[in-house]
Amino acid sequence: MPITFIGGVHPKEAKLTSGSPIEVLPPPKTVYIPLSQHTGKPARLLVSKGDEVKLGQKIGEAQGFISANIHATVSGKVKSIGRFPHPVLGDGIAVEIENDGEDTWAFEITEHDYEKLTPQEIIDLVKEAGIVGLGGAAFPSHVKLSPPKEKPIEILILNGCECEPYLTCDHRVMLEFPEEVVKGGEIIARVVGAKRRIIAIEDNKPDAIALLKKKAADFEVIPVKTKYPEGAEKQLIYALTRREVPSGGLPMDVGCLVHNVGTAKAIYQAVRYRKPLIERVITVTGENIKEPKNLLVRIGTPAIEAINHCGGYIKPPEKLIFGGPMMGIAQYTDQVPVIKGTSGILVPAEGEIPEPGPCIRCGRCVDVCPMGLHPCIIVDYVENLKFDDAKRLGILDCIECGCCGYVCPVRRQLVHNLKFGKAEVWRKKD
Ligand code: SF4
Ligand code: SF4
Repeated sequence: MPITFIGGVHPKEAKLTSGSPIEVLPPPKTVYIPLSQHTGKPARLLVSKGDEVKLGQKIGEAQGFISANIHATVSGKVKSIGRFPHPVLGDGIAVEIENDGEDTWAFEITEHDYEKLTPQEIIDLVKEAGIVGLGGAAFPSHVKLSPPKEKPIEILILNGCECEPYLTCDHRVMLEFPEEVVKGGEIIARVVGAKRRIIAIEDNKPDAIALLKKKAADFEVIPVKTKYPEGAEKQLIYALTRREVPSGGLPMDVGCLVHNVGTAKAIYQAVRYRKPLIERVITVTGENIKEPKNLLVRIGTPAIEAINHCGGYIKPPEKLIFGGPMMGIAQYTDQVPVIKGTSGILVPAEGEIPEPGPCIRCGRCVDVCPMGLHPCIIVDYVENLKFDDAKRLGILDCIECGCCGYVCPVRRQLVHNLKFGKAEVWRKKD
């Protein structure tokens, strides 16, 4: 019997790029680096217009515990600081840097011995490097590595499910950087003291399962059923352990910690090389992209640069989505930059994603929500900017899986509004 959770849906997989090795996208002439790329407070600006900056230099400092540092992703000159398109917020404050083409690092990137570091020293390095969850939620990783003493972590789960259709960046990271993923996982397990270590991978990636079984001697590599949203952390914890994260709770409430495989790799690079999070792997895909690919992209790169590297559009695009079709967010411009939480750029074929219409109160979104929420009502509140009411109805329990949007017959923009509403509730909390 395959390991899975209760409920879920089976959208078409459309993994067009699962066999495409990661290519490095040359850094663009200009990057736009938002100060808010993570759950929690935006970073505090550290640079001014006209400043010369180096690659990896900290240009935004975390404010408070739930926040993350931001670094320059090219060397060059700060051209401006202002409001620019933002893939989650619509627009937001960003640092525009003109690339001098030199890639001059702010410090030397060399190997460091990390075996003797204390857990706190490792957490500090992860925080300094601005690492956030790369699976999409962009939650600051140093916070997840610091559970309170009364919530000990027994089980670490590295999440290689990548259940979202079209996306293959995690799959390729597992195939091309298995050692870094495993070493990152070992570092995380040591910091939190997890005795049991699991790597969970959907059974539609047999090559990654076979490879990690060879490379990850200290981990149980467990194939899970290919079903959406298998990779959502609460559903994955249930599938693997039969432990249920309580409403409003976190994985640590049931002794678990879940990190995406790409995040594990980034944590390894932060600890081993002191390398900040200046780039990430994304999938550029969809039936309206000439040559869909997996790319290693500098944070702050405008989407159109990545799209052009993939041969451009086949036809003028109707829709551009950051992320996959289930959890992704529709964009109004292809100038919007890739940020830390961007796992993919999807440009579907004409008519593939119909225009949204008004809610007909059919209740299907309520029936499928794996968290037992009323998405239609919560989104009513978000659309009317009544964030306190959205919070009262449990918007923070939403795992942004997109099942509601998938079954909605009028294709209402539920996920987009749920993400926006959650970001606003978090902002008010801080
Ligand atoms: S409300 Fe949130 S958790 Fe529920 S189906 Fe929609 S996206 Fe998923
Ligand atoms: S599925 Fe769509 S149309 Fe039906 S109640 Fe939910 S939001 Fe409204």
